Amino acid sequence: MDKKKVVIIGGAESGVGAALLAKKNNYEVFVSDYGKIADKYKDELKENNIPFEEKGHTIERLIDAGFVIKSPGVPDTAPILSSLNKEGLRGVSEIEFGYSFYSGKLIAITGSNGKTTTSGLIYHIMKTAGLDVEIGGNYGVSFARILTDKNPDYMVLELSSFQLEGIHKFRPDIAVLLNITADHLDRYDYDIKNYAAAKMRITENQTTEDHYIFNGTDELIKEMNSQLPIRAERHKIEEADYINGITSKEGDKQFEISIKGKHNLFNARCAVEVALILGISESDISQGLATFVNEPHRLEVITTINGVTFINDSKATNVDAVTYALDSIDGDIIWIAGGTDKGNDYSPLYELAKERVKALICLGVDNNKIVQTFATYIPLIIESTKVSNVVDTAIDLAKAGDTVILSPACASFDLFDNYMDRGEQFKEAVKARM
Ligand code: ADP
Repeated sequence: MDKKKVVIIGGAESGVGAALLAKKNNYEVFVSDYGKIADKYKDELKENNIPFEEKGHTIERLIDAGFVIKSPGVPDTAPILSSLNKEGLRGVSEIEFGYSFYSGKLIAITGSNGKTTTSGLIYHIMKTAGLDVEIGGNYGVSFARILTDKNPDYMVLELSSFQLEGIHKFRPDIAVLLNITADHLDRYDYDIKNYAAAKMRITENQTTEDHYIFNGTDELIKEMNSQLPIRAERHKIEEADYINGITSKEGDKQFEISIKGKHNLFNARCAVEVALILGISESDISQGLATFVNEPHRLEVITTINGVTFINDSKATNVDAVTYALDSIDGDIIWIAGGTDKGNDYSPLYELAKERVKALICLGVDNNKIVQTFATYIPLIIESTKVSNVVDTAIDLAKAGDTVILSPACASFDLFDNYMDRGEQFKEAVKARM
């Protein structure tokens, strides 16, 4: 990264964070986005005198750079990256760029599901222990942006597979790999091995001094672990380590955990493993586990109306997350699902659907696949594109003791801005009936 002009492809949180960090370190910076740049980011670029272009790339303005930073939203196959590659320009990810400026200890978390929850919990336990720690990456603020004005002792980074593409030297002191299940396959030629390979890159540069915590019951992780030259010390987390609760080292005390469900016990056990490696005391771990408040839209209990519990799990955008959600509920379920299907295989849900779901309400523009798939398993299937109708229907169908859950298994972009918008609209519609 010697030549002092850098081009950044993509002008959202990661791209703008990288632009600010580059500018601060005296690079000449240019940001280029194929689409429109959001006003708040444009304002920030202007305030910092960083030139940019949007709604298209002008190759002549890019090729004299020393290197390219690509935002995680831009796939390696994007034509602009191929064109720049042909000009001899190599692309690095924003994470890699940030890493070149960071001197503290890195805890990096990836997986298909549970990243935000586990990252947040690790951060919370570390804060409880009084450590100088920041959290970022896929979690709100980009790594590069944090580094523009801080260099904390510890950094907790939530990483998507997209962020791990384009790393070269990035090396976490502690890597956590939660699970690898089908997601985002549209970006990986519909081959889960390609997606798994991107996730496994979290271990790629680790040495014998580092730690690798992984899900010991995940078949794909086991297979990848046996094929790759992983040098870090391995910490395998298996069901027996958490299924009956998480206990202190001596086994004399069971920790109270604020988040519910088998999947969250696993997430919590991974967080505890990180804390133990860092030498955090059991009393801080215990306090952290008991007081953690998760981000919204993840099995978020909204309220109870006439004995019916309403849960917002809008972040469940794949089948695996929904499987854990439905499995964590006692009693009959009215399941609200649908949206933009990402090539879902619904078969892991058949049994749960048959045994526990008394009605499926599809909230999506094109519900054909989900309706046809579940017609033989669920006695009643209703479709709607309006959140208020969906909630009214759910209230009509539910009896005391039932649970109404929005756990879509699909992306939200057919009807909503994003999963947060979907979850907020659902919560408002439910609260309006209280
Ligand atoms: P991510 O950041 O990886 O998307 P989140 O913590 O935001 O993960 O959770 C996303 C969805 O996945 C939620 O519906 C949540 O209940 C579910 N989930 C959380 N942890 C796990 C896990 N370990 N396995 C399967 N599903 C999970």
